[in-house]
Amino acid sequence: NVIIKTVGLCKYYGEHIHALDGVSTEIKRGEVVVIIGPSGSGKSTFLRSLNLLESATAGNVYFEGVDITDPKVNINIHRRKMGMVFQQFNLFPHMTVLKNLTLAPIKLLKKSKEEAEKRAMELLGRVGLSDRAEAFPSQLSGGQKQRVAIVRALCMDPDVMLFDEPTSALDPEMVGEVLDVMKKLANDGMTMAVVTHEMGFARDVADRVIFMCDGKILEENTPDEFFTNP
Ligand code: ADP
Ligand code: ADP
Repeated sequence: NVIIKTVGLCKYYGEHIHALDGVSTEIKRGEVVVIIGPSGSGKSTFLRSLNLLESATAGNVYFEGVDITDPKVNINIHRRKMGMVFQQFNLFPHMTVLKNLTLAPIKLLKKSKEEAEKRAMELLGRVGLSDRAEAFPSQLSGGQKQRVAIVRALCMDPDVMLFDEPTSALDPEMVGEVLDVMKKLANDGMTMAVVTHEMGFARDVADRVIFMCDGKILEENTPDEFFTNP
């Protein structure tokens, strides 16, 4: 029941920067994988390679059994099933929260406006933001913006959620509210790959921790093993 599999994934910038250097791993359905490692070790490149925001120099990414690195594959169909949350929220500033949430489901999933709004309001409620639907992003706190960004990804009914340092741009007092939403999502059974420096989250929520260094996986283990063995 593997949902994402990478085989020998490499990403080179020029001859000398090996951002990814032969990464092979799997993410199973329902699994929460946390990716940690020093700055510049390739964590973000790895995550963005999973939905082909970065094109690999070599190697393959299989998503739900399909080799999406095959140029004949229409990546848009598969990318839709992978929700992505960035450090910098990336909300559309000139649109209300509700519009941000319903745009893609209406345009890409061909949902009716009513259906898209119903789903968006339901998910907003789950992250405690029902009363912010008509606000603009500039009127929200960082923590609220990131919760909206998570909901926006969820509105596409993804099979997996990819998080790239979702709390790194937040004031410390807002980190908890975003991690709580992510924890809830994990408990609901969502498949997640999370790049983060939050070791508490890795310890408490991860099924597996991947430690990267110099573009390679140095260790891959359960959090218990990872955090107890030196
Ligand atoms: P991390 O997320 O672990 O901080 P990154 O995946 O962002 O690491 O980067 C891995 C390596 O690739 C770093 O050495 C970084 O400088 C380099 N890198 C990332 N993007 C580019 C790019 N567009 N051009 C050149 N080098 C890059
Ligand atoms: P992140 O760790 O969130 O990817 P970075 O600051 O590493 O943030 O990268 C921001 C952007 O700059 C990315 O698009 C990345 O590809 C690019 N980048 C990172 N390192 C380099 C580099 N050495 N040369 C050129 N572009 C880079």
